[in-house]
Amino acid sequence: MLQERHALSGIYQSLYELRKNIEVAIVGGGVCGLTCAVALKRRGVPVQIYEAAAHFGEVGAGLGIGTNATRILDNLEVLDDVLKNSEQGGGSKSIHASWAAFLDALVQHIDKDQVHFNKRCIGVAEVGPKPSKLVITFSDGTHASADVVLGADGLKSAVRGAVLGTDPFSVVSFSNTVCYRGLVPMEVAKAAGVTRSYTERPICYVGEDKHLIVYPLMGGKLINLVAFSANYEAAIGEQSLPRDEPSVMPVLPDQLLDEYKAFGSEVVTLLGCVKQPSKWVINVVYPPLQSYVKGRIALLGDAAHAMLPHLGAGAGQGIEDAEVLSILIGNPQTTLENVEEVLKVYDEIRRPRAQKVWEGSVESGRIASGHGPSGNSVEGLRKDFTGMWDFVWKYDLNTDVQAAVRTLEERCVFVPRSRV
Ligand SMILES: Cc1cc2nc3c(=O)[nH]c(=O)nc-3n(C[C@H](O)[C@H](O)[C@H](O)COP(=O)(O)OP(=O)(O)OC[C@H]3O[C@@H](n4cnc5c(N)ncnc54)[C@H](O)[C@@H]3O)c2cc1C
Repeated sequence: MLQERHALSGIYQSLYELRKNIEVAIVGGGVCGLTCAVALKRRGVPVQIYEAAAHFGEVGAGLGIGTNATRILDNLEVLDDVLKNSEQGGGSKSIHASWAAFLDALVQHIDKDQVHFNKRCIGVAEVGPKPSKLVITFSDGTHASADVVLGADGLKSAVRGAVLGTDPFSVVSFSNTVCYRGLVPMEVAKAAGVTRSYTERPICYVGEDKHLIVYPLMGGKLINLVAFSANYEAAIGEQSLPRDEPSVMPVLPDQLLDEYKAFGSEVVTLLGCVKQPSKWVINVVYPPLQSYVKGRIALLGDAAHAMLPHLGAGAGQGIEDAEVLSILIGNPQTTLENVEEVLKVYDEIRRPRAQKVWEGSVESGRIASGHGPSGNSVEGLRKDFTGMWDFVWKYDLNTDVQAAVRTLEERCVFVPRSRV
């Protein structure tokens, strides 16, 4: 048995040598790009990250991560650090992580020489005879080359242009939803007269076209507020916003209070403690992409499927993308010659899954804003929300990965394991 295992590991080792020839470039060092880099590195795939900003940065204070994604982070051995630095205990369950802690936990696993800051991608093109290199052009006039380019450059992805073959912004649509975000130290809230304890779990206040989610961060020392306001009369994509309009802007505390004054004194007192609220215009990828992949270029995370945040699952979907990409590219049988076929299968398994979550996010927002099928009574909301997260959290990624490998075997891209 031991001998057999050694023989097999020898075969895998020689296949692995072939795989090591594939150089991957990730454009964008947000949570999805970094997760993908960590996952690829663990599977022995050389990877470089090109990030537009001068350093890695948070998009918000906190991030909900469901069990589907915490399982992946656990496998990558970053979950413990996320939990520790978020001052949140618990095993691989759903968590509310500090965004900064999440980034720190990932960055620890990446070497400095793998990261290139101030590199804003403006295009990706195939250059030279087969097997050609992909050349990434940056706004500073420099270039980098790779065998595979993964676009993790968020909603306004430049890499998406290379996949679509057209304007990457043509699929960036206003979701008719804005949100206000703010942080309140628990001490400040108590001193102001807030009576409810927000230390244990998220609490959602619901009203017509609006809802407000309140959850603890840093072990309950901070309260994170996300207040949504939406127009359900319009269809997504009906209204487009000026391309250069910033999606995040500061607002006056009075504007926030005015929007939610009908929510009662507890909420008004809590919102009154927010010193510097910000307003977020939520854009999404719509209409959905017909493919996440073109040749050896693939999209992941918000670049592929930016969605409404109502299931708290956007980053989680990107984490799933990252894991599937790394498993497939890192498979001992993936080579420079067949990696295009492998990425096609990535698209085939990830696109329907992420789109289902995208649609669930719309539905969840409608329910929370009083437009669910059972109305906005407490019973109606309970009924509509029952089991809402099951398909997101209880997802079995391994089954999909196994199906992807089977498909590659059926297409004679991979040699069936029974014959290796
Ligand atoms: C209000 C709100 C609440 C949310 N809450 C949750 C939640 O609780 N749970 C959850 O799972 N998701 C949540 N999301 C969604 C989540 O924020 C996103 O899905 C996630 O940040 C996407 O990660 P990403 O790495 O794909 O993109 P981003 O986080 O946008 O990162 C993209 C990176 O690429 C860089 N970049 C951009 N353009 C270029 C370029 N041309 N060249 C090089 N680099 C580039 C950027 O600087 C950035 O570092 C929420 C979103 C919002 C708006």
